[in-house]
Amino acid sequence: MKVITIQISVPDGAEVRVNNGGQQQQQQQQQQAQRPFAAQPAPAYPGGVCPEHAEEWNLVPAGVSRTKVDANGNPKRYNAFWTCPTQGCQQKPPKPSVVEDVSYGGGYEPDQLPF
Ligand SMILES: [Zn+2]
Repeated sequence: MKVITIQISVPDGAEVRVNNGGQQQQQQQQQQAQRPFAAQPAPAYPGGVCPEHAEEWNLVPAGVSRTKVDANGNPKRYNAFWTCPTQGCQQKPPKPSVVEDVSYGGGYEPDQLPF
């Protein structure tokens, strides 16, 4: 780590505050930029079909990109994902968490039913 001394001229009466808040923020940003690849298990079949082609989703196994590289120049790894089997189709199945959010939150409690 480099230590840099900075001289700051402060007029009399001005308050100078130095705290760790700014440093922590910088560290967080760096971590996001250099986020390491996190291998994840293949997601479960999301259900449904491609809205454009009415084809069932196709699981693409985890692998290594042939065209994209990471910050170190190594081929980018990617996790398994579901996609439309039609080449060039950009449609993706809805994320399971979104589906869960929709199905939950109806507010139904058995003892709240009017019968
Ligand atoms: Zn499609």
